[in-house]
Amino acid sequence: MTSLKKQIFASVVPPWLWFWLIIYLISLPTNFSNWIRRFMDIFTYQNPSSDITGSPFYALLGITDFFEFIFPITLLIGTVSLLFPNQTAKKYEKQQNLKVRAIQPEIIKFLHKYAPRIHVRFSLKSNKNLANVYTLDYGKVAIAIFVEMVKLWQKDQPTAKATLLHELGHYLSGDAFIIGAGSEFRKIVSNWFYLYLLIVFIPIVIVYLSQTVTFFQEITQAGIGILPGVTHKISQIFIRGIPFFVVLLGQMLMQLLLTINVFIIPLIGIWCAEFNADQAVARNASPAEALKLIHLLSEKISWTKWLLSRLTHPPKRLRLWLVTQSHNWWSLFLLLLLFPGAYIVRLFMMIVYGIIASFMRGNFEALHEAIINYLKNVTLVWIFTAILLAIWPAVSQYWQYYLSGIKSSPNQDISWIYYLSAATVATGVLIMRSLIGNG
Ligand SMILES: [Zn+2]
Repeated sequence: MTSLKKQIFASVVPPWLWFWLIIYLISLPTNFSNWIRRFMDIFTYQNPSSDITGSPFYALLGITDFFEFIFPITLLIGTVSLLFPNQTAKKYEKQQNLKVRAIQPEIIKFLHKYAPRIHVRFSLKSNKNLANVYTLDYGKVAIAIFVEMVKLWQKDQPTAKATLLHELGHYLSGDAFIIGAGSEFRKIVSNWFYLYLLIVFIPIVIVYLSQTVTFFQEITQAGIGILPGVTHKISQIFIRGIPFFVVLLGQMLMQLLLTINVFIIPLIGIWCAEFNADQAVARNASPAEALKLIHLLSEKISWTKWLLSRLTHPPKRLRLWLVTQSHNWWSLFLLLLLFPGAYIVRLFMMIVYGIIASFMRGNFEALHEAIINYLKNVTLVWIFTAILLAIWPAVSQYWQYYLSGIKSSPNQDISWIYYLSAATVATGVLIMRSLIGNG
């Protein structure tokens, strides 16, 4: 039987998604003006490669320049949808047939013991879902309980409780508003790769195929015949095709990097929210319960499938590792540094992007300037990250109280790990400052 403290503390990791959202909203006006400036640039910019080859292919590929606006706009749509939690909730409840039902009153009792303000809705739908928190309206959060959860409660109560505790972890950390069930924001961030395929990859392939068809039509119309046409085509592959392919691959890779660049920070924010909810189980029930829960929740899928569609679910191994190591200080230290670390990954991706772009444009001046500008922005974000990490042991209980009305006392013995991670980020700021100074 799992022993649970009545008073649970769930905000181990700072609410990075909220942190990200606030920075995103603050920088929106600047981003808007940047988009407009870039848009004007594209209109006036002549692609030099089209002069070299004289091929309309390259001109057509120029349309990919406009793709860089599509993903930020998609993310903006997802963010705007957060302003209407009421609509999202209605849609989700209708879809999942969620209602106030008196199915297993013990579940409601268990939940209200830890979170008296949470609304409980039951679904009669039998699907793979167990339980999910979602936002009903501003300041109103509900938990959806599915048939499988009721079955689990009757069969294996400790695991059922651990699952509910994971969901309560999301609730007590304020995740429900941003990534609660039915969230359009979460759907958009989760499906970034499919968006890339649909918006970038497929159009580029269609452009190429249509050009090939036109080419063969020209040959037959000119009466050259198919066979000389084919030999001509093969020679053309070497003369025009290879540079074309290089440009095509370069464009696709650049667009892929731009896409990841838009989504990586909120994506890592979602990972941190999941890790945090796991920590709520490990620290309030037991690591063993958390392990059972992770095995139960993460189905066996191949890593390629995970990469394509389940990237918002953090890798199972990492979840298991963080839970088994939850008693070690360095696992928390690394967990706290995960979100600020995502900015470094993003920096490396931007450098790769910049190098490819510079090669294609034959101009390296913009790369240096872009890196310096990015470093300046990261420095600013990291200063606030360090501050949040340093004050988190003191303010986290108020954050949780504000969300749930439950007072809780975080473990003060581990405060130094937060200070250490804040100091690490602050050192990173100093290093970046000196880099900017020298650059
Ligand atoms: Zn979760």
